[in-house]
Amino acid sequence: MRRRIYLDYNAGAPLDGRVRAAMDPVLGEKPGNPSSVHAFGREARVLLEEARARLAALLGAVDKDEVVFVSGGTEADNLAVLGVALARADQGRHAITSAVEHPAVLAASAALEKAGFTVTALRVDGEGRLDPVELRRAIRPDTVLVSLMHANNETGVLFDVRALAAVAHAAGVPVHTDAVQSFGKVPVRVRDLGVDLLSLSGHKIGGPAGSGALYVRTGVRLAARLLGGSQERERRAGTENLAAALGLVAAAELAVREWEAEAGRLCVLRDRLEARLQEWIPGVAVNGGGAPRLPQTSNLAFPGVEAEELLVALDLAGFACSAGAACSAGALEPSHVLQAMGLPPERVRGSIRVSLGRGTTVGEVDALAEALPALVARCRG
Ligand code: PLP
Repeated sequence: MRRRIYLDYNAGAPLDGRVRAAMDPVLGEKPGNPSSVHAFGREARVLLEEARARLAALLGAVDKDEVVFVSGGTEADNLAVLGVALARADQGRHAITSAVEHPAVLAASAALEKAGFTVTALRVDGEGRLDPVELRRAIRPDTVLVSLMHANNETGVLFDVRALAAVAHAAGVPVHTDAVQSFGKVPVRVRDLGVDLLSLSGHKIGGPAGSGALYVRTGVRLAARLLGGSQERERRAGTENLAAALGLVAAAELAVREWEAEAGRLCVLRDRLEARLQEWIPGVAVNGGGAPRLPQTSNLAFPGVEAEELLVALDLAGFACSAGAACSAGALEPSHVLQAMGLPPERVRGSIRVSLGRGTTVGEVDALAEALPALVARCRG
């Protein structure tokens, strides 16, 4: 069988063997609900609270209880956007986000609108950048939340969250950032970014799918979305997933410890891929290439090509890449991110995402660069 090359790490990274080992002890035969008062429960509680403290330390949080364990990036984003806006509804019913956020934030914003809020989605420029002046203009006396992502999942473009948070805080508005793609790829410390809430997801960094966390600064009011028991200090009901929490924390520690060397290596690979493609294929452009970007993400436009057709051709040739967002029928919707950047429809339709990770080698990247000219020519034909 042809060798398969995985270049879709932004969709999900494989579970790291060291993370699996960290989860193993609690996946065995021992029972243990961290809320139980008996010895088994107390043992589970100790492990959970240790994990919480380790994650809090990695994020630069002041208190371990600022970490809420959740089921992933989607839940963290939903809890942040809906939880803060609904808790602060007595102070106003306006929230601000951007047009290029992940659907987990956009859909939560749409739910807020249904609940009577107004949501302003800030525009970005042709490189996917967001001007803090736009944020300043959008803030109103009744604004209760600003939610802006740290790194875009499709283009890798980084927002200057520190500058944006400073603008929001000058008006007294709390700030959430979705750091699902940036954590473990670039430094992510809550105090450096100046944010009040921050979302993380385990499976983007070699942790288990279904793990995640929301950082909530002490003093920020949050209305729980999952109702029931008083777990996670009444911010997230439901028996805690201890294995997921241990896996998330192990993956996060590895990602932070290894990010610097890995970021440099992946940047070299990404730049090599982009330079070769631009030399070998007429008309290739890098979407967001003029903005500060994550080291491992390349969003490439091949004008005259339908991305869906190219992805199928790549898959048949053994390369796993992605584009836009797959709708429930499996078909591709045009990317809302590239559309919001104001790119021409033909360029939006012909763009794919290549995302690299720990396992990516120079040989794999070169194999993609060598395969693409013929595949693109065939799709154009
Ligand atoms: N936010 C961003 C920027 C993402 O890229 C993703 C996943 O692709 C999510 C949120 C959702 O995370 P999860 O898959 O853990 O629900």
